[in-house]
Amino acid sequence: MKAIAKTKKEKGFEIIDAKIKEPGENEVLIKVKASTICGTDLHIYKWDKWSSERIKIPRIVGHEMSGEIASVGKNVKNLKPGDFVSVETHIICGECYACKNNRQEACMNLKILGIDMDGSYAEYVTLPAENCWKNEKNLPPEIASLKEPLGNAVDTVLSEDVTGKSILITGCGPLGLLSIGVAKVSGAYPIIATEINEYRIKKAKEMGADYVLNPLKDNIYEIVMDITKGNGVDVFCEVSGNEKALIDGLNLTTPGGRVSILGLFKDEVKFDINNLVVLKGLRIYGITGRKIYSTWYKTSALIESGILDISPVLTHKFKLEEFEKAFNLMETGNCGKIAFIID
Ligand code: NAD
Ligand code: ZN
Repeated sequence: MKAIAKTKKEKGFEIIDAKIKEPGENEVLIKVKASTICGTDLHIYKWDKWSSERIKIPRIVGHEMSGEIASVGKNVKNLKPGDFVSVETHIICGECYACKNNRQEACMNLKILGIDMDGSYAEYVTLPAENCWKNEKNLPPEIASLKEPLGNAVDTVLSEDVTGKSILITGCGPLGLLSIGVAKVSGAYPIIATEINEYRIKKAKEMGADYVLNPLKDNIYEIVMDITKGNGVDVFCEVSGNEKALIDGLNLTTPGGRVSILGLFKDEVKFDINNLVVLKGLRIYGITGRKIYSTWYKTSALIESGILDISPVLTHKFKLEEFEKAFNLMETGNCGKIAFIID
């Protein structure tokens, strides 16, 4: 089968001809229909410090995906060939302290598709059956692929309720855009987003942000305080991975407010924890992955009810062979989610 893989310890990927892995007794073989690009894949493409330490080559990359079940192992009862599924990309152990305490998203032996095992930029993927989430057949494959990152956004925005609350979302990459959508349909108001890329500023408005500020041009302290009548925002969601955005957001959160951090930071972050967290009485949530599987119920309900339209986040489609074009575009930031359509 055709697949995109990391084959050399340097920038780039390669199209390879890979063997299809027959499913084990608790596994399924999935014919991939769409696989969307995550920021992590760009890190692997660029071969940064993190990926060079984590990835063993050769490795087929990609994880966000949807597809059709092609065959199932002998113990698999709840899936059959032809079923259309999205995939929980975190393969958990089910045995560790975190798993046993119903915090599977924080599994201590976590394996990730396309990172620790061969991934979804391929014609077929073999996975534990329990990682499949069955979809309605009429859902577009690229939207079904986005259920996984949408789950990150759902847990970020909805760590606590947001209805009628002011919210600041820093960073309007794909995850920030999805977070704006979740905040909108959950009744947050006003939704204030920050972003420095003009393409994404437009997208943020399209997703329903009431205000989109550019910290390179706008005095965000003055404007946010003005919008919130001097109180600061009730909820702050950090989705940029930028240190300055995090510190600005903590400053702009109202005393007693709630913070959820999805962004991953390149380096250690230093800030005044006494004045920005402790003495403000903030509640801070670190968000890793999605709750397995309670978040998937929320994500699916939001999409399948038609309440949340995430299609504006999906901006480009490519074939596997066009991966270089796709990753070059990712590097510019002038895109939302990019999907590989595989047929
Ligand atoms: P992205 O890099 O595409 O988006 C980040 C956005 O932040 C960019 O559009 C960038 O222009 C913007 N930005 C940079 N500096 C800013 C500033 N000072 N103020 C406002 N915006 C600024 O990433 P993404 O795919 O949207 O993911 C968002 C973050 O979430 C990343 O850090 C990613 O690593 C992280 N992430 C975490 C998890 C998890 O499980 N914790 C899962 C997925 C992604
Ligand atoms: Zn575990």
